[in-house]
Amino acid sequence: NVRVRFAPSPTGGLHLGGVRTVLYNYLFARHAGGEFVLRIEDTDQTRFVPGAEEYIINCLQWCGLTPDEGPASGGPYAPYRQSERKAMYRQYAEQLVKSGHAYYAFDRPEELESMRERFKTDTNPSPQYDHKVRLEMRNSCSLTLEETETLLEDGVPYVIRIRMPENETITFHDMIRGDVTFNTGLVDDKVLLKADGMPTYHLAVVVDDHLMKITHAFRGEEWLPSSPVHVLLWKYLGWEEEMPKWAHLPLILKPDGNGKLSKRDGDRLGFPVFAMNWTDPKTNELTKGFRELGFMPEAFINMLAMLGWNDGTDQEIFTIEELIAKFSIDRVHKGGAKFDFEKAKWFNHEWIKRSDAARLLPDVKRVLADNGLTVSDDALLSTVINLVKDRCTLLTDFYEQTKFFFATPSQDLEAVKPKWNEAKKEFFLAAIAQMEAASNFQAAEQEAAFKELATQHNIKPGELMMPLRIMLVGGKFGPGVFDIAAIIGKQETIHRIQLALQ
Ligand code: GLU
Repeated sequence: NVRVRFAPSPTGGLHLGGVRTVLYNYLFARHAGGEFVLRIEDTDQTRFVPGAEEYIINCLQWCGLTPDEGPASGGPYAPYRQSERKAMYRQYAEQLVKSGHAYYAFDRPEELESMRERFKTDTNPSPQYDHKVRLEMRNSCSLTLEETETLLEDGVPYVIRIRMPENETITFHDMIRGDVTFNTGLVDDKVLLKADGMPTYHLAVVVDDHLMKITHAFRGEEWLPSSPVHVLLWKYLGWEEEMPKWAHLPLILKPDGNGKLSKRDGDRLGFPVFAMNWTDPKTNELTKGFRELGFMPEAFINMLAMLGWNDGTDQEIFTIEELIAKFSIDRVHKGGAKFDFEKAKWFNHEWIKRSDAARLLPDVKRVLADNGLTVSDDALLSTVINLVKDRCTLLTDFYEQTKFFFATPSQDLEAVKPKWNEAKKEFFLAAIAQMEAASNFQAAEQEAAFKELATQHNIKPGELMMPLRIMLVGGKFGPGVFDIAAIIGKQETIHRIQLALQ
């Protein structure tokens, strides 16, 4: 039974790369009929940010990637918040000490500092705590058993560190990269259990993946250098057989391909990198998200799926059901994917065009309400949505594209003035009279009558269309002008023309 997990640390807004990790987990699990677990990795109290967990849960909900198990919904392996599992980890750290794969280290911060000074060289400016160093430090590898016991009894603060072998080759299989090999000499004796009794990520991730029976672990490429520690822990804890299959997902790159996409790139280039708006509780600084900018979750997810995967054809638009059916880890690219905001908007535009009015209605209502416009006639709003949706790239565009249907616009008459003259004014007075008399105010009939009248007045209809559009819409945009007239109705159409003629 396939079981995967998304294991974020609640440290802030959810970055594009994080959502893509969730997505690939989710697609993989659903494709295999397995389970998708959300686990909150909050063991680092110094990085804990209030509100971040709730934010992550809301993001997953917006994206439609709801976990089967997690802190909000519970499940058979609860609790799903590592801080609430604190008591479970110590026994494993102690088991590793007993088997000789880990040790107590009593170093004070200043001792660690002076070690770094002592071992630092030009080529190695930040030396590791490794086999060379550990024998010179205060820990149970360099102290006698009695000395160690005395320190423990005296309550001297300690951490538990893994004892990395000096020169061993570790190879494991990554589903995306194939076999990956590390020499243990390049990895230091990572802390497993901290002085406050909390596990570090390294211990907690292995223990929890074991206890929660995780079968496949997808995570960002930045974790690849830590993987030898995890592979060794699986082995030292005696669980080697159950180690999940790893997949280290390639990075999402800056638009120019030069390094990992960061929040700062978004600020600099004017696009969001977070799923939803995030306000940092410490600084009150707001970072904008795709949702608030006007992305449909379907489009956001579709765009992310394609950042590092394709189904081998030219197809780009996929529903979540199609993604679940087609997703396979073999087609995830090894290299990083460049983020392209224009392309992201293209996905959203395609999704808006392809969605029916019923799907768009609640979102459009919210956009209008955010702008102070309440529309209660759903049937009318649906007609309007169908008329303008091809012109909307973002959901937020629906405000500009629909507001003139519901309220008399301020008319940008300056745009008409240069070509305005008495003859045109007379034409519009005649057009008003003709409209008043019309028994049928449908678009086709009105268009025919308008053009006919223009011919009678010896003016090319083309010269009258833009003025009429500006009168009805306020600017030089929008769907067919007679479609608009038919929807706003005879009285309002005449009213807008009269306003312009004043
Ligand atoms: N807590 C880690 C993070 O926030 C998770 C890495 C993993 O999935 O193992 O990136």
